[in-house]
Amino acid sequence: MIDTALINQLKNKPIEPRGHLIDGLSVLNEDGMTLDVLSPRDGRLLTTIADGGSREIDLAVNSARRSFEAGSWSAMAPAGRKKILVRLAELIDAHAYELAVLGVRDNGTEINMALKAEPGSAAATFRYYGEAIDKVYGEIAPTARDIVGLISRGPVGVVGVIVPWNFPLMIGSWKIAPALAAGNSVILKPAETASLSLLRLAELALEAGLPKGVLNVVTGTGAVAGEALALHNDVDILAFTGSGGIGRRLLEYSARSNLKHVFLELGGKSPNIIFPDMPDPDKAAAAAVNGIFRNSGQVCVSGSRLLVHRDIHDEFLSLVVARAQKLRVGDPLDTASDIGAVNSAEQLQKNLGYVASAKREGAVLCTGGARILSESGGYFMQPTVFRNVSAEMRIAQEEVFGPVLSVIPFADEEEAVRIANATNYGLAAGVWTADLARAHRMIGKIQAGVIHVNCYGGSDITVPLGGMKQSGNGHDKSLHALEKYTALKTAWINIA
Ligand code: NAD
Repeated sequence: MIDTALINQLKNKPIEPRGHLIDGLSVLNEDGMTLDVLSPRDGRLLTTIADGGSREIDLAVNSARRSFEAGSWSAMAPAGRKKILVRLAELIDAHAYELAVLGVRDNGTEINMALKAEPGSAAATFRYYGEAIDKVYGEIAPTARDIVGLISRGPVGVVGVIVPWNFPLMIGSWKIAPALAAGNSVILKPAETASLSLLRLAELALEAGLPKGVLNVVTGTGAVAGEALALHNDVDILAFTGSGGIGRRLLEYSARSNLKHVFLELGGKSPNIIFPDMPDPDKAAAAAVNGIFRNSGQVCVSGSRLLVHRDIHDEFLSLVVARAQKLRVGDPLDTASDIGAVNSAEQLQKNLGYVASAKREGAVLCTGGARILSESGGYFMQPTVFRNVSAEMRIAQEEVFGPVLSVIPFADEEEAVRIANATNYGLAAGVWTADLARAHRMIGKIQAGVIHVNCYGGSDITVPLGGMKQSGNGHDKSLHALEKYTALKTAWINIA
């Protein structure tokens, strides 16, 4: 049961202007610069955050390096790190409503989903990596008897983390938790439109016993604070989730600075493929609608291209459109809303620009396509479905990152695979069929990091998430994520 009284109590609570969190302290910019934080619920000023620059990034990187070298965290036994990370998970659970409501006021995600996906996932993630880290062993190589070949993994040093605004706590934790569990020190640069809940998480980490300087947060713009972090010569690893365009720049920054390792989790244009033998059309239609419209389509794995077999195309499309029209778009802090607000005025304009371009290119609007509830001052958009989309149109190629679904017909398995793979992205896909052999063939042929069969979007912390092609080069989640934040070392010991 969701505690609506608590949500109502928290939703109008004033939020003090926020500084960075550096070396365990709240720090304001030396030049006093701040950024306004507007709530997507009503477009009003919520608070301000510090607008960090290279001075603040330097302070944070120096603090992270000092803490790493002092060994207050990096040299702690894994069982000690585990205790603190598990305590942090407990604190996140205890502050779940506070964190979720703060996040929703900042980024507009609907509260039912935010409670599960934000503090819920963050707590599960810190608990998972905390519990895991004292169970990871090294190896002894099969050498001759007079040699001991040790293969071990240890922390790398200073990790920069840059995250987007769609699920700040969840995505932030997917990077911070394994990086910390492995013994690194971290500097986090949240998105400028979703910093508040991550700042609070970092405070809870101090309360859990994380030594100061091990987790620092610098807020500000990507162009200034983000760039300064990515160009810094004393950052060893950069873990990024965001758009492909910025991912490309981060690789350039690495080449121009210290060749830091850059791990990229980027966008998607994921196909959800419906064969006539799907087990349950209603279930498939409900999943297709949820798979694109949850969080206003601001989900990296959104099934934004619905590929439907020609034999069932019109019938299935009607099911999808009927469900899309029933969704309630409204205040993200009202538990009766199915969909909340788009994150920013800028993102809303971008979405509407894609609607206009789809119409120009000849796609047919079945439902939606417009801003709604503008009298609230918030950034709300109707769930939007286009038919007659062809694979070359912009709307079938580019990531909208909004509540816009493109429906594309196909004739057979071969054509479905060809259309599915005809983008630069390769993040996720869905396949609906009762034929197990076909499901396996599709898993083999579709170029995507995550493939759902007879469902869309399910996952938990135990499975990796990462993309193929231009959707990225690393994996978040599962024990595999530890590989990004550890250095593989070998020792060749002569005992002859
Ligand atoms: P974005 O790339 O605009 O911004 C992401 C982060 O990068 C923000 O913190 C931003 O401040 C920072 N940034 C911007 N310019 C920078 C620069 N020059 N140097 C350093 N940092 C900079 O993306 P967004 O609009 O915040 O998020 C949406 C994107 O994120 C979509 O493409 C979406 O698919 C992707 N995403 C991917 C995953 C995944 O796991 N693959 C998950 C969620 C979101």
